[in-house]
Amino acid sequence: MERRYSNILSRAKSQRRETKLFLEQLKRKKIKNLDKIFKRITEEIFYDINCLECGNCCITLGPRINNTDIDRLSHFLGMKRAGFRNHYLKTDEDGDAVFKTMPCPFLMKDDNSCSVYKARPRACMEYPHTDAKYMSKSLDLVYENSLYCPAVILVLDRLRQEITLS
Ligand code: SF4
Ligand code: SF4
Repeated sequence: MERRYSNILSRAKSQRRETKLFLEQLKRKKIKNLDKIFKRITEEIFYDINCLECGNCCITLGPRINNTDIDRLSHFLGMKRAGFRNHYLKTDEDGDAVFKTMPCPFLMKDDNSCSVYKARPRACMEYPHTDAKYMSKSLDLVYENSLYCPAVILVLDRLRQEITLS
């Protein structure tokens, strides 16, 4: 991971209480157009982020994998569904299908690219979920992701500059 991103993650860990407090205030405030604001800021932040220089989500967080993902991935890899399941997946403590091993088996170690990018799980497409519908209901997830994804911390920095909560 490039130093720029590891520095942001170190900051995320040291300011986790402030982040939690900010998100709790945001939850209470019920801001109009919060989804649109998050979406715009997420686009602006990702314009300057190169995920190939980071890769932390694919190294540390396993996506949930649904049946449609299994269909798409097994087809992409030319495998049978059952074979794909047996080879790559396990069931976690919440009953969800996840990769057996992390870092993700499809993460290319030399450049952090995804070898199944066109067929990647939906959770990977949507990560880090800062441009979801109903952001007011996703703020706990935003907090969790702020500890792993440098982009989330930058989104929250920008949000703090734009929104007055007092
Ligand atoms: S499938 Fe691709 S995008 Fe998803 S975790 Fe693995 S390497 Fe990352
Ligand atoms: S989505 Fe976030 S954690 Fe994942 S590679 Fe991009 S910046 Fe890193």
